[in-house]
Amino acid sequence: VLVGAIIQPRGEPKFSSTTVTFKEIRYFREDIAKAIVQALAPNPIRQKGEHCRFAPCKVTCPLWTGPLLDLTAIIPAPGMHAFGQPTSADHPDAAAYGEYLSRAKVLVDMAAMFKKEIDEQMHSFLEAGGSIPGWRLKAKAKQRQWIDEQVVKKALKKLGFNEQEIWQKKLVTFQSADATARRRGVTIPDELRVAPPTTETTIATIDDPAPIVNRPQAVEQFRASLKLLTESK
Ligand code: SF4
Repeated sequence: VLVGAIIQPRGEPKFSSTTVTFKEIRYFREDIAKAIVQALAPNPIRQKGEHCRFAPCKVTCPLWTGPLLDLTAIIPAPGMHAFGQPTSADHPDAAAYGEYLSRAKVLVDMAAMFKKEIDEQMHSFLEAGGSIPGWRLKAKAKQRQWIDEQVVKKALKKLGFNEQEIWQKKLVTFQSADATARRRGVTIPDELRVAPPTTETTIATIDDPAPIVNRPQAVEQFRASLKLLTESK
């Protein structure tokens, strides 16, 4: 028996493990070998799933391009107004609303992926001299920037700016500091770079390794602590 371990320093749990037998490893090797033979054959079987998440072949895969056209995914659930939303988790339509958001999210993410891919292909085609009805190339707008430093400095000084109002002393970026540290063969202590504490949240898929933020549970815990405090007076 062997032990397989997954270590994710930034995730929760940080460490997980499972036992695996030699027989299972042998079966796994056989399955992989069969899958490779199948994948290299003409018209291999496609199986839509979580493994497609970062697969670039989604753009041309019929299993993904077909459902993309299924706009019924964003038809609101019965009883819901279009884009209306139950405001609490115990609302009678809350479960249907959750399902609806999950379907709609898959749809819009797919649409966004297709948009990016199509935009890139249009751009390369037009750059290569191709013609697309209704579309053309234009110069990309760039952010304005100062002209020569010394010229700007003199001009600002003339306007009455002092040195501090002209020059700004800034720390280098993480990327630049990391490159210097590598060159010097030193390590930057972790405590020099910390993420500021936050109460804001963002959405993530259920397999994301980051700890889960459970708002209703946090509110319940706060209520319970408050009750204990008031009772102990
Ligand atoms: S998107 Fe790629 S990995 Fe997913 S089913 Fe289609 S071909 Fe297979």
